[in-house]
Amino acid sequence: MPFEIVRNDITTMKVDAIVNAANRSLLGGGGVDGAIHRAAGPELLAECRTLGGCETGEAKITKGYRLPARYVIHTVGPIWHGGHNGEKELLSACYRHSLELAVENGCQSIAFPMISAGAYGYPGDQAMAAAVETITGFLMNHDLMVYLVVFGRDSFLNSKKLFRDVKEY
Ligand code: ADP
Repeated sequence: MPFEIVRNDITTMKVDAIVNAANRSLLGGGGVDGAIHRAAGPELLAECRTLGGCETGEAKITKGYRLPARYVIHTVGPIWHGGHNGEKELLSACYRHSLELAVENGCQSIAFPMISAGAYGYPGDQAMAAAVETITGFLMNHDLMVYLVVFGRDSFLNSKKLFRDVKEY
């Protein structure tokens, strides 16, 4: 199956689209959002200002500017409130809507960070399980190379516990 979990900085991924775990304003933030805006340059924020924000679980696309990736797909993950407030459905919707947008825009490869697993507090193992389930479901009837990018040492070790085959770039 064209799916890999890799340890890397997502801003260096040479893919058609990288996904940004943004907030609803789409006007930048910390974590992976900050890293993507720093690497893409100020033109990314300028385009984001034209988008009028994004609802949780939805996704919007921009160009990638100075990134190796042609596009950035901005999606807004749910904030973890204990797991009984639709978090899993919303997190799955982030992955599904991002994948759909990538296909609609002719992308053949896409890289995701672990949406919601940082500042938004989603437990790492559950965030990864939801990501893998939604991505593999989508790949049953779409042809696309998908990378799930883990960043810190802990999420890397965690991902190795859940999945045998995790590559370090
Ligand atoms: P959220 O607000 O959706 O939780 P964060 O950016 O705080 O978003 O964290 C999401 C995940 O992205 C975390 O697992 C964090 O370790 C990871 N992350 C942070 N920077 C990068 C990066 N440069 N490349 C890939 N993943 C990153």
